[in-house]
Amino acid sequence: MRNLTILDDAVIVIRDGRIAYIGPDRRTGIAITEEFDARRATAIPGFVDSHTHLPWAGFRESEFNRRLQGETYEQIAASGGGIASTVRATRAASEDRLVDNIVERARTMARHGTTTAEAKSGYGLNVDHELKQLRAIRRAGERSPLRLVSTCLAAHEFPPERRDATYVDEIVEHILPAVATEKLATFCDAFVERGVFTREQGQRVLRAGASLGLIPRLHADELSDTDGASLAAELQAASADHLMYVSDRGVAALAASNTVANLLPATSFFLMSPRYAPARALIDAGAIVSLSTDCNPGSSMTESMSMVIQLATLQMKMTVEESLTAATLNGAHSLRLADEVGSIEIGKRADIVLLDAPNYLHLVYHFGVNLVRDVLRDGEFVVRDQRLVYGARAGEARR
Ligand SMILES: [Zn+2]
Repeated sequence: MRNLTILDDAVIVIRDGRIAYIGPDRRTGIAITEEFDARRATAIPGFVDSHTHLPWAGFRESEFNRRLQGETYEQIAASGGGIASTVRATRAASEDRLVDNIVERARTMARHGTTTAEAKSGYGLNVDHELKQLRAIRRAGERSPLRLVSTCLAAHEFPPERRDATYVDEIVEHILPAVATEKLATFCDAFVERGVFTREQGQRVLRAGASLGLIPRLHADELSDTDGASLAAELQAASADHLMYVSDRGVAALAASNTVANLLPATSFFLMSPRYAPARALIDAGAIVSLSTDCNPGSSMTESMSMVIQLATLQMKMTVEESLTAATLNGAHSLRLADEVGSIEIGKRADIVLLDAPNYLHLVYHFGVNLVRDVLRDGEFVVRDQRLVYGARAGEARR
């Protein structure tokens, strides 16, 4: 993860949306039809944000303000707040409204250098509203500056009106088969946690998803050690996410697996928790570590992967090099897209961020500002001189 290839004065040639050449020599033998001078910018791969909850309605800024004044998350949840309030607002929103919300967030993400993002359902919590969220992700993907990848997280929480195990039957017997039939998701996720889904319930949901072709991911060991990391490794999940309370056993299980340890330090930061995932232990043990925003209205209200990289280095003691690999190639690996995106290599999609900075260290060193000047996705500008240019064409004209 520390082993970056760094080129000075490089030329990148893009053909048909993919990298055709990268190197120091302008005489590539490839006919150049259009040139762009990056004016000494630093080119890095577009960020891959592999854990977000984008399709939601309603913000929770007043709850946040109550937390700032000392109320606990539990007190707020007991008064009808927390995930339940987002479930109410998301159920009340039309599919069109959710599409607009996702596109708006995707535009902000693009301005901060993200070119591929995962997006989860999980605020519908019944067949109709889970499918509505996933259909909204699909439609938003058609007019978003980002490439979106969908995950069904029906096992995010129990529905407020029905906190019993029969909801697990509904997920397995109705929601997941409907998602698979409509091909609405690539992945299936579950929140295994004390007071939410048990290890056995999570396993049942993810095995059912896998039998329908949905690749497992898992919210694991976020608020307590439930041995979630080992479960993720056992199920050959694409990722085990959060891991603030992962045990030594869980670290070893991930290190021995192809399951990516997806760390979300913005969540610890935003919840004002001193507890971050043990990134150093995971990396030093040999686990594949990625970084994501966890963008959601309750516990991590940010679209910025730069912010996440700053927290990864300054709070979790990852190196800048490790953080950059985690925020690009390793996230792509967990989304099963590492052959296509996540690094600037010949043959891959030309997803490139140009930083207004002399080198990549400025991503952390020059913190708290947006250094992203230009963004290309599939070789096309989506952001130019810090302004979104995507959508000036087809997509936005239709709105
Ligand atoms: Zn999450």
